[in-house]
Amino acid sequence: MKLSSTTYDLKLKHTFTIARSSREMETVVIVELAHDGIVGFGEASPSRRYGESVESIHAFLSRLELGQFRDPFQLEAILNYVDQLEEGNSAAKASVDIALHDWIGKKLNIPLYQYWGLDKARAPLTSFTIGIDRAEVIEQKVREAEEYPILKIKLGLDNDEEIMKTIRGVTKKTLRVDANEGWRNKEIAVEKIKWLEQEGVEFVEQPMPASDLAGTAWVRERVALPLIADENSIRLCDVPKLQGVFDGINIKLMKCTGLREAHRMISTARACGLKIMMGCMIETSVAISAAAHLSPLIDYADLDGNVLTSNDPFAGVTIENGKLVLPDHPGTGAVRRSA
Ligand SMILES: [Mg+2]
Repeated sequence: MKLSSTTYDLKLKHTFTIARSSREMETVVIVELAHDGIVGFGEASPSRRYGESVESIHAFLSRLELGQFRDPFQLEAILNYVDQLEEGNSAAKASVDIALHDWIGKKLNIPLYQYWGLDKARAPLTSFTIGIDRAEVIEQKVREAEEYPILKIKLGLDNDEEIMKTIRGVTKKTLRVDANEGWRNKEIAVEKIKWLEQEGVEFVEQPMPASDLAGTAWVRERVALPLIADENSIRLCDVPKLQGVFDGINIKLMKCTGLREAHRMISTARACGLKIMMGCMIETSVAISAAAHLSPLIDYADLDGNVLTSNDPFAGVTIENGKLVLPDHPGTGAVRRSA
């Protein structure tokens, strides 16, 4: 088994601003796992929020000795080894997990949804994310998102009211709100969420800082809208702790080390009575397609990271009238676009 990695600059169609950062480009790492004449593709999109960078990803991958394993079907042993090598490095670990799954799907000549026994017709609608911006740009983004029946709105800075007013001025669509930990005070969070309920919002993602679970539980007792954990829902071990604090979790491959753990988080969340959302970072169609294959198991999808970019080097999952359409090519179904 041979692993190689390259860096790729993904250009964003619009500057993307959330409560803690703003950017025009996202650099990701594309991984190729070659064995027995088959290449599996993986991807790592680093998040500073979780302590990763392109450099840390390449460094982690260069330390892996996958030659000790017979073939990618030793998934359990390989991923245990990768996870135990060093703490953190979740996106780097996810890139190996995705490449292994892609390789296995290609070897078996089946798409991943079929490998997991899922019905692709049950893939949900995905929301389209509108980052924080000036009113005229937000209006333009809402127009560009015409085919999406659900929009996800980023709030959490000091212009929440202005953004909502702008969006409600141009659309009556279902809105989901992500505060990205932006409301620092529990009284303010309650006030904001009650206001958003009147604005036709479906749920609110991560209203309070991840460090304030008690504050979030206090808020939840006082509001009607469901609260979804994102920055509080990193890995499998976090899921049981969120019962009674949140109504659901947002699973991202780059936070949870990949598809194998994401699948376990879905089962655990179901057992805990939590709703399940799958989200993403800014990613190519490699990682987005991988996540999309699990989407028949979830309640809410926010898998639009590739759609926000203008130079995705891969094609895979597509979106029709807002619904995820899983590719039938083997593995993740992500194939390189010809240059
Ligand atoms: Mg979020």
